[in-house]
Amino acid sequence: MNNFSHIAVIGAGIVGASIAFHLARRGAKVTLIDAGEPGKKSKVQPATAVSFAWMNARDKNPRHYHLFNRRSLDMWARFVERLGSPQSATWGGELRWASTDDGAREIVRRAGVLQSWGYPIRLLNGEEVETLEPRLEPGVVTAASYTDIEGHADTGAVVGACVERLKEWGADILFQTLVTGLARSGSDIAAVVTNRGEIACDAVVLAGGADTASLAAMADVDVPMYYTFGCTILTEPVPPVFENASVVHSPRDCPPQTNFRQLPNGSVMLHGGAHGRVYDGGSLGQDDREVQRVSMLWRVFCRLLKACPCARFGVGDGLFQRTDTRFSDFPNGFQISICL
Ligand SMILES: Cc1cc2nc3c(=O)[nH]c(=O)nc-3n(C[C@H](O)[C@H](O)[C@H](O)COP(=O)(O)OP(=O)(O)OC[C@H]3O[C@@H](n4cnc5c(N)ncnc54)[C@H](O)[C@@H]3O)c2cc1C
Repeated sequence: MNNFSHIAVIGAGIVGASIAFHLARRGAKVTLIDAGEPGKKSKVQPATAVSFAWMNARDKNPRHYHLFNRRSLDMWARFVERLGSPQSATWGGELRWASTDDGAREIVRRAGVLQSWGYPIRLLNGEEVETLEPRLEPGVVTAASYTDIEGHADTGAVVGACVERLKEWGADILFQTLVTGLARSGSDIAAVVTNRGEIACDAVVLAGGADTASLAAMADVDVPMYYTFGCTILTEPVPPVFENASVVHSPRDCPPQTNFRQLPNGSVMLHGGAHGRVYDGGSLGQDDREVQRVSMLWRVFCRLLKACPCARFGVGDGLFQRTDTRFSDFPNGFQISICL
C-alpha cells in the first residue's frame, strides 16, 4: 500500500464500491467518485442497479474461470459479513430443469463436468423438483439440476453498505461528479480531472462499468467492448416464492429462457436476454413485445405470481428496465475494472 497511498476509484457500482471498501480496509486513503449517486434514479442505470446478480460458478468456462468464480463465490459470505450486511446475500442454490430429451442430455452432461471439477451439483427428477419448490409449476421435467451453494446479491444494499463503511473510515465520497480526464505526470497518472475540479492521487482504479472503455481511452488504453441486449423486470413485493432455491432458470430448451430470483423485500426480478459472445439477433429485450414475453413466461411457471393481484409486470408501469449492455472484449472480462 506504500506506493499507492491515495487511490481514486472511479465508479461506485458494485465493482468500484467493493474495490474502494477493500482498499480502505487495508489502510489506503481512498476517494470514490461517481457521476451519479447509488440508489438514486438516473437516465442510464448502471449495470449494478439492473443486474441479476446471481452468484455462481455453474455456467463458467473454461475450468480456470470456473475456479476463479468458485473462489469468488466462497468469499461472498465473508465479504457481506465484513460489510456488516449479511442480509444482502441470499443463499439457497440454483435450480434449473429441461423439458426435452436434448435439454436433459445437456443438463446431465454439464452436471458431470461440474462434478468432475468437484462442484456440488446434483441431478433431480420432476418429483424432486416439485418437492424442492412446491410453488413452481415446471411442467414437463426431463431432467433438473440443483447447486445448493449458489445465491444472489442485493446489489443496492451491498453498494450502500460499502459506502457507509467508507464514510466511517474517513474516505472521500464524491457523487454527482463526472470524470472528464486523467492528468499525467510523466508516465504516471497524477490526478483525476472532474467537472468539479482536479483530485490529486497516486493511482486510479477505473471501475466505470460499460464506460470503462471511454475512461481508459483518457489514458490511451484500449478496452474493446461489444453490445448485448436483455431486459430486467421487477415486480412489486409478493409473498415468498421459493421454499429452498434462490435462483431459478426456466428451461433453456424451451425458449425464451428467463431467470428469476426474489429480493429480500419480496420483489421478484425476472431477467431475459443473452450474455453471448456475439449478439446474434436472438437475445430478448430489444422491444416492448419481448419484454412482455419474459414476464408472461414467468406466470406460466409460478402459480403464486399468476394468482397474486399485487404482482404487476411490464411495459409502461415503470417496473421494467431494458438493459442494453456493453461487455468487455477481454477474455472472460464480463465487465471489468482497470488499475492505472
Ligand atoms: C442485465 C444484467 C444481468 C447481469 N447478471 C449478472 C449475474 O447474474 N451475475 C453476475 O455476477 N453479474 C451479472 N451481471 C454483470 C454485473 O451486474 C456487472 O458486471 C456489474 O454490475 C458491473 O458493475 P460495475 O461497478 O463494474 O459497473 P456499473 O454498475 O455500471 O457502475 C459503473 C459506475 O461508474 C460510473 N461512471 C461511469 N463513467 C463515469 C465517469 N466518467 N465519471 C464518474 N463516474 C462514472 C457510473 O455512474 C456507474 O455508477 C449482469 C449485468 C446486467 C446488465
